Amino acid sequence: TTFADFALHASILSRLTELGYQTPTEVQSTTIPVILTGVDVMAGANTGSGKTAAFALPILQQLSMQLDNPATTKKTSNTIHHLVLVPTRELAKQVADNFISYASHFNGKVKVVCALGGVSINTQMLALRGGADVLVATPGRLLDLVSSNAIKLNQVKQFVLDEADRLLSLGFADELNNILALLPKQKQTLLFSATFPEEVHSLANALLVNPKQFAL
Ligand code: AMP
Repeated sequence: TTFADFALHASILSRLTELGYQTPTEVQSTTIPVILTGVDVMAGANTGSGKTAAFALPILQQLSMQLDNPATTKKTSNTIHHLVLVPTRELAKQVADNFISYASHFNGKVKVVCALGGVSINTQMLALRGGADVLVATPGRLLDLVSSNAIKLNQVKQFVLDEADRLLSLGFADELNNILALLPKQKQTLLFSATFPEEVHSLANALLVNPKQFAL
């Protein structure tokens, strides 16, 4: 398999070439074609497996179709369509940086915002003025931003839970449930996890609809 086989937007493919990505990693070659069809996916993936690109590239692909169709480019100010939930600040920064890197050939048309605790919420609220194409967030800060009316999650179209096992083991179950209650029923959900303890399975059962599953 090559990245060109996935029929990704030319601006994505040219950036991957520039980055020197020649072949998709295993998690990328198994999940990307399936994610592109719009179904829910649950995948086992360790750090270093290339899992970030596995969900970032299909999200950018969906965004690229909107960019090419001016009729749908209008962003409704604080409504988030593409949400990535991660357990830690470090991971939030890494994932956001990856999105920014993979989107760099879209000439600034893809706005990625990182919402993480420990830094001023005002700065993030300012960054969210006029919306965001992709929001990468840690659970507590995400809920704070919803409470402050800085964002709305009721029209999320693609929702990623990255490192779901760590989200639960770090004690974010309550926050997670509060977040899930804000999301619309109809959406595409992608769950990535390094391990699959019982809590991850129950979360997946509650959240995913007819998911395609890929083991580690
Ligand atoms: P991740 O598991 O998403 O943290 O990715 C691990 C590292 O592999 C990151 O530094 C990526 O930039 C890199 N990477 C991801 N996919 C590929 C690929 N197909 N070819 C080469 N490097 C990659």
